[in-house]
Amino acid sequence: MRILLTNSYRYRADKKQWKAKQCYPPYGTAWAAALLRQEGYQVDFLDHHLRKDARDYTDALFALRPDVVIIYDDQFNYLTKMCLQHQRTFALELIQTAASLNIPAIVYNSDAQDFPLEYLQAGAHFVLKGEAEETIKELLKEYAAHKQWSYEVPGCAFLKDGQLQLTAPRPLMRDLGALPPPDWQLLPLDDYRALWHKYHGYFSVGIATTRGCPYKCNWCAKPIYGNRYFMRPPEQVAAEIAMLKHQLGVGHLWMMDDIFGLRSDWLAAFRKEIERLDARLPLKIQTRADLLCGKQAMEDLLAVGLQEAWIGVESGSQRILDAMDKGITVEQVQQATRKLKSAGVKVGWFLQFGYLGEDEADIAATLHLIEICMPDHIGISVAYPLPGTLFYEKVRSLLKDKDHWQDSDDLDTMYQAHFPRPFYKLLHRYVHCKYQYLKSKDFLKYKVKKPLLSWRMRYYKRRMEELASQALPF
Ligand code: SF4
Repeated sequence: MRILLTNSYRYRADKKQWKAKQCYPPYGTAWAAALLRQEGYQVDFLDHHLRKDARDYTDALFALRPDVVIIYDDQFNYLTKMCLQHQRTFALELIQTAASLNIPAIVYNSDAQDFPLEYLQAGAHFVLKGEAEETIKELLKEYAAHKQWSYEVPGCAFLKDGQLQLTAPRPLMRDLGALPPPDWQLLPLDDYRALWHKYHGYFSVGIATTRGCPYKCNWCAKPIYGNRYFMRPPEQVAAEIAMLKHQLGVGHLWMMDDIFGLRSDWLAAFRKEIERLDARLPLKIQTRADLLCGKQAMEDLLAVGLQEAWIGVESGSQRILDAMDKGITVEQVQQATRKLKSAGVKVGWFLQFGYLGEDEADIAATLHLIEICMPDHIGISVAYPLPGTLFYEKVRSLLKDKDHWQDSDDLDTMYQAHFPRPFYKLLHRYVHCKYQYLKSKDFLKYKVKKPLLSWRMRYYKRRMEELASQALPF
């Protein structure tokens, strides 16, 4: 059986991301490819991450005449999990093209799991829900054996007489080590390598060592794993990294885990293997402030190559952190940032504004925290109610008509937050401006821009004050 595996996120359709040129190959898709190949299927992979449109896809459908198309987006890269409108539109186009040629299409991405009907009505045969590897395996096995689909495989959504049908939920895999490692050979790595070298001078790829996260931040959508957390064997991950470093010329890694190195025993074993295989590479990770406060964790992270750590700081107001069930304190954020900086590690902060109940004082607390800690990078978002979260339920009655961001720079508030919608756009600009202004004493490039930054800050502030007068009561 011949399968065309493809994906629907395109960096080129996401202006901010394409400008940054930090494009990562689709790791999760490569994992699915490895499994399909292990099962003996002929797999062709058409990667849309760096493509402009669907022209090559249409050509491939005519040339290869696959038995099945699988649109399978990376479930590890946060961008492909954001359910962006441009990605949905493109996925629907891919489905419709396959359907017009009578080629069954199976879809796996975050948005389709939340809104399967949209994808099924566009012509998809199945939408996969939950962890997809076993589901695909079982579905294709039945299809290959009987030349017809089974509608009883757990983890599927499909249409029957125009009505949405769901099969039983797919149980989670507990032994990630049983999966074959992702199939790097199938990825167009030369294209990514060229791009990275041209714009950054090194080659970075993303990998994942775990699935899930045991924490309970109540705005964070975790439809597949809930609070469960599974780790790959450290030896398997280290061997993969050694291969990336020694055979594929990779010079930097983004560890895409929600939380990298959460378990200290795992981290210690991983460190041992990395040292044994001479597989140390500079790492960018996502982590939590509380985890960085221990001495051993920091030592092990530095030993395996930690270069840049992004922390989910969210807010400088303890009241808001508690309302989010974030489980960290403002003091821990300060302590972790100090520790990272003194170890020479770059620190990035994820921040978000507009959480339910956030007022002027909370915003001011966040600005103050930035000012006293001065992380190396900040990434700002607005509170985004994702279906299935407690936050979504809390603001459900306040949701507006728009339910998807167009791209990752959209940042519209999707519910009626305390301040009007344009306030948060201005706040986003204001905070970036102020952050650059604060940096101006250390960096010449900002020093030159200082008068302009100062003028902009005053302008944004004035406009924000006007809009703040239209704030709704809590
Ligand atoms: S925000 Fe991060 S720490 Fe919190 S639940 Fe989500 S992945 Fe886990």
